[in-house]
Amino acid sequence: MPAVERGRKLYEGKWKVLFETGDPARVILRFKDVPDFDRTVARPKLPRRGAMKARIAATLFGLLQERGISTHFLELQGEREMLVRRLEMIRLEVVIRNVVAGSLAKRLGMEAGTPLPVPVLEYSYKSDALGDPLVNETHIQALGLASPEEIRAIREMAFRANGTLLPFFAEREILLVDFKLEFGRHVGRLMLGDELTPDGCRFWDRATRERLGKDRTRRSPAREAAAYQEVFRRICA
Ligand code: UDP
Repeated sequence: MPAVERGRKLYEGKWKVLFETGDPARVILRFKDVPDFDRTVARPKLPRRGAMKARIAATLFGLLQERGISTHFLELQGEREMLVRRLEMIRLEVVIRNVVAGSLAKRLGMEAGTPLPVPVLEYSYKSDALGDPLVNETHIQALGLASPEEIRAIREMAFRANGTLLPFFAEREILLVDFKLEFGRHVGRLMLGDELTPDGCRFWDRATRERLGKDRTRRSPAREAAAYQEVFRRICA
């Protein structure tokens, strides 16, 4: 299929740019190689990060769609772009956790690496001014972010996505520690949007527990690049 023509820029974030297309119901999402907050930092960038992210997101969204979980993904376009359905985004970050790590370890005083007996779901209200505070389902309703039916659907889709992704990664010797999802409405229909890439997920090697993909605590850019490429290879090769 010929590439869809890119129109006006709609939005530019730290990691991605959205463009209009000739069809108001579809937009192009382009992944950047370097996030804005890194542009002034003198360190080698991860080569082809945007292209790897596009391929990984397409693979994972494709898998979820095969299992009946609606996503905005339509098709890959060029190297670093996806054609997606235009969504009215819900201002929530939805995190699913299988193993204790990051902010959960700090907040609840749990040791990082502890397996959780049940997957844990957390919502944060997307607000830069407030620092994305954790919220619960009654807060979400009170803030008017989503209806009770939508909240139920978000919860169900998030757990089903986890149920699909866990074995997919396990087969690739990856432990899916936690990951972040975002949802939106397309013609009133709830679906997964944004990205599903190593930049919103914590991946550990199943055997060695070595951090794969993005890791802010990793000191060496060369090691970060190798770990990102390794996760790309395991998902897409
Ligand atoms: N996450 C994200 N965007 C955010 C916050 C978190 O993609 O703004 C992802 C993060 O990559 C991890 C999961 O959500 O996979 C849980 O993150 P956590 O709350 O532990 O925060 P972190 O320790 O990553 O700051």
